[in-house]
Amino acid sequence: MHELSLVKHLLRLVDREAIAAGGGRVTRIRVLAGEFSGVEPDLLQSAFRIAAPATRAHDASLEIKVIPLEAECRGCGERTRVVDFRFVCARCGSNQIDVLSGEEFLLESITLLDEVDRGRHEFEGDRRGEPRPVRETSS
Ligand SMILES: [Zn+2]
Repeated sequence: MHELSLVKHLLRLVDREAIAAGGGRVTRIRVLAGEFSGVEPDLLQSAFRIAAPATRAHDASLEIKVIPLEAECRGCGERTRVVDFRFVCARCGSNQIDVLSGEEFLLESITLLDEVDRGRHEFEGDRRGEPRPVRETSS
C-alpha cells in the first residue's frame, strides 16, 4: 500500500514538527494532496488509522484538502484546470503547458494539545476552589 509508506513519512514529519513546537499530543493534522499526487484520500485515511496509534498523533484527526490540477500555457499564458489528464490549453489547444499545482503532497499544519497550558488551567481550577465554603460549614 503506497499510502501506508506516505503516512509513515508524514507521521515522522509531524513528530519532528511537534517536538520543534514544544512537544505534546497532536490533535489535528492538515495535509494538502494534489489531484495528481497519486494520493487517494480514502486510502490515506485508512493508512493513517493503521499507523497513527503508535505515535503522538494517535488521537489526531487527519484533514485532507484536495488541490486541483492546474497548468499554465507556455504559448498564451492561460491557466487551465486539467480534467481527465488532458494536458492541453483550454484557450489555444497547445500541449506545451506547465503544471502549477496538483502534484503536491504537503503537511499544511498540525494542532497540538498544549499539556503545559492544560495543567495551568487545572491549577487555576483548584485555586478557585480554595475557600471551600461547603466543606468548611460541613466539618
Ligand atoms: Zn494556450
